[in-house]
Amino acid sequence: MANETDLMERIVALAKRRGFIFPSSEIYGGLNGFWDYGPLGVELKRNIKQAWWDDIVRRPPEGPDGEPIEMVGLDSAIIMNPKVWEASGHLAGFKDPLVDCKECHSRFRADHLLRPFLLPLHSIPSSGQIFDTVQFRAGDPARLDRLVDQPDASKLQVIVREALNSRKAKVIEHPQAAPVHGVQYFVQDGNSSYFLGLDYDDVKLGDRCPNCGAQLTGARQFNLMFKSHAGAMEDSASEVYLRPETAQGIFANFRNVLDTQRLKLPFGIAQIGKAFRNEINPRNYTFRSREFEQMEIEFFCHPDQAAEWYEWWRDARFQWYVRHGLTSDRLRLRDHTADELAHYAAACADVEYAFPFGISELEGVANRTDFDLKAHQETSGRDMTYFDEEAWQRDAPQYKPEHYGGDKKAAKQAADEAKAGPPYRFIPHVIEPSGGVDRAALALLCEAYDEDEAPDEHGNPQPRTVLRLHPRLAPVKAAVFPLVKKDGMPEKARAVYEACRDEMTAFYDEKGAVGRRYRRQDEAGTPFCVTVDGQTAEDGTVTVRDRDSMRQERVPSEGVVAWLKDRLGRG
Ligand code: ATP
Repeated sequence: MANETDLMERIVALAKRRGFIFPSSEIYGGLNGFWDYGPLGVELKRNIKQAWWDDIVRRPPEGPDGEPIEMVGLDSAIIMNPKVWEASGHLAGFKDPLVDCKECHSRFRADHLLRPFLLPLHSIPSSGQIFDTVQFRAGDPARLDRLVDQPDASKLQVIVREALNSRKAKVIEHPQAAPVHGVQYFVQDGNSSYFLGLDYDDVKLGDRCPNCGAQLTGARQFNLMFKSHAGAMEDSASEVYLRPETAQGIFANFRNVLDTQRLKLPFGIAQIGKAFRNEINPRNYTFRSREFEQMEIEFFCHPDQAAEWYEWWRDARFQWYVRHGLTSDRLRLRDHTADELAHYAAACADVEYAFPFGISELEGVANRTDFDLKAHQETSGRDMTYFDEEAWQRDAPQYKPEHYGGDKKAAKQAADEAKAGPPYRFIPHVIEPSGGVDRAALALLCEAYDEDEAPDEHGNPQPRTVLRLHPRLAPVKAAVFPLVKKDGMPEKARAVYEACRDEMTAFYDEKGAVGRRYRRQDEAGTPFCVTVDGQTAEDGTVTVRDRDSMRQERVPSEGVVAWLKDRLGRG
């Protein structure tokens, strides 16, 4: 098949041609970072969200003890009190370094400009005296954090850590290695040198805009949250933000859900919804958009069980993608190294997919400890603790007056003191599997895209494009055709179509040669095509053609809906 760039172009073309994805407001030239999902795209996305919701909330999986886990759903507002973003750290810290071109006004993330330089240094042309040893601020997490976004980050970090630990390596400044006159740090290990980071505050970019070659501005920090105003006054008191993630709506409602649902730890709250990030440089098709949808779970548990639940969720979420068709080795699970972890996280892993444009994250699973609930407790002043009634009932006899020499007051005081803290009252820890609907849809399209050959009506092989989507996620489950537009076939086919439509998304088509109709459905990812032909009038059977094997089977038309439902599966 095509090389990876070509492949991506073909996928994008197919998605446009067949009505999966359109540039948003295309008639006005589109809007960078925004996409519209067409008739097939909206079905694909709805199926992904429905499958996730059914598998997580309606029929939650069994936990490590074999019992179904407890899950409830939520739909919180997109715009929340700005204090939420103060508590979560998004107001202060949700920033990327931004540079502008002074001529063409293109904007770039300073760290993305440096991507090409994540190479052994000797492969970068250089001249003259370029190495200066500088002091490495080893404990500076900001510098190492910047590597997280880089494709080879984990490998690089291992090299850096090992090299620095063994003191074989030193950090060097290399002012001519990139088209920026900032301070860039490289680590030199033997004969190889690796890019380590850039001191953005020092960046004074010269005359090298990647688009037009003109001068760029220095880097400045840019908050990724979209800002708006609630109400008629446009002043700082009315400033609000479009949520950059759905997760904070869950934390902000933790108390409400706990108090109204009689839940016991461990339990999870799940939410699907839009999120907005004013990405400096949206790119890679829908992968990095400014408006997207997330599917997020906050799973609250006892601190002692957090490590076990983290592993369980990490594996469960990876397997969910495998079950829904991401079966190739393009899907991988990558544990973050200690250097990559956010300061509050105890562990984190990414479900990644090797897209034609590179390996990138589909979903992150993190053990976020009690960081978020604690932050909201501190900022809101509201109690975010959980009281473990079972543990208390087990231990309460220890606080009977007879253990306090019959002194009821002392016993009550000791009991009250014990009940106020661990192990009875505590802030739960949280495991957060956080995935993107758009990235899942894109990975599924990439994985499903295939080109092979199918026979035309004369039996001659013709090239075909086929989307081998999992039947549960396919936009249309069954297409129904009359072989020809006569002999009562259209009437019969319509009746079959109507019966199918009650149970699944179905499509009726009677136009053109049947081979061409099959191929159109192959491109749309429709797993089954049902055809009414001459034999139907004789014995009441129809043919069902399988998209992937192209095999045809005769099935009684009365039983065709049940036959199809049987094969559509749950994933
Ligand atoms: P990245 O590093 O790629 O920007 P992230 O680590 O910031 O992603 P999270 O904050 O963990 O992403 O968000 C959870 C999920 O939301 C991601 O795994 C991804 O599927 C989705 N997501 C995040 N940002 C975007 C975006 N700009 N466009 C589409 N989906 C996104």
